[in-house]
Amino acid sequence: MLTSVTQQPETTLTRILLVTGASRGIGAATALLAAREGWTVAVNYTHNAQAAEQVVSHIQSEGGKALALQADVADEAQVMRMFAQIDAQLGRLSGLVNNAGVVDVSAKLEDMSVARLKRMFDVNVIGSMVVAREAVRRMSTSHGGSGGSIVNLSSAASRLGSPNQYLDYAAAKGAIDTFTLGLAKEVAAEGIRVNAVRPGLIDTEIHASGGLPHRVKDLQHLVPMQRGGSAQEVAQAIVWLLSDAASYTTMSLLDVSGGR
Ligand code: NAP
Repeated sequence: MLTSVTQQPETTLTRILLVTGASRGIGAATALLAAREGWTVAVNYTHNAQAAEQVVSHIQSEGGKALALQADVADEAQVMRMFAQIDAQLGRLSGLVNNAGVVDVSAKLEDMSVARLKRMFDVNVIGSMVVAREAVRRMSTSHGGSGGSIVNLSSAASRLGSPNQYLDYAAAKGAIDTFTLGLAKEVAAEGIRVNAVRPGLIDTEIHASGGLPHRVKDLQHLVPMQRGGSAQEVAQAIVWLLSDAASYTTMSLLDVSGGR
């Protein structure tokens, strides 16, 4: 006999979402899509205020609510200031997309400086962990919150290792995978789900920032689906993981990589 299952709503009516690095690429696509799904979105950026304001205007033009907030996720004081702004201007957070991430130019380990290695881990790993810490302090039922959902941006690089290109970045994303598994278990009983999305070759400006503007075209023959993916295709997976439709999904590492 079939029994009906009552789903527990995990979020309050006004759902507040922070997307880090949302001024362009996967973060911007996620902010736009989440706003269409009813989230009020804090659009974080670090340098490009104009691009972040354009994302906010786009959301508002479709009837949504959004606010652009500057903070370098690698700077704890800036992260704390951003969360204070979210608390005061939007309300209690129930969604986080830890999307801000950087690569550096192609190099072998033997040519990587400690400054480069530190930046890779400060932004991609410690930044994500500090932002998640502040989110947990607001979402956790142990802290008076009503639960929530965290999605970390990892990468197919965590499986592939990215030799001769940026194994520092790949190692940082490996840390994000492990962080996702651990945090998911740590806060599962406090109403918070934690998952990661691992995009493959996605057509955004991150490749140009690593000195390889044609990287997607150059490598797409290695992808079983024979093409790069779009920011929108990654955003769809992220917004599903954020939503109550994924209410029993936690601790998953979801590959969005065309089979690679
Ligand atoms: P992108 O186009 O380069 O955009 C990066 C975003 O992060 C920008 O909004 C940038 O803001 C922001 N950002 C950079 N450093 C930051 C910092 N310290 N603090 C706050 N924001 C910061 O990147 P993307 O391709 O959309 O990638 C998004 C995420 O997906 C990253 O975590 C990346 O590692 C991951 N990913 C991407 C791919 C891919 O092929 N594109 C594949 C696997 C994983 P400003 O412009 O204001 O500086």
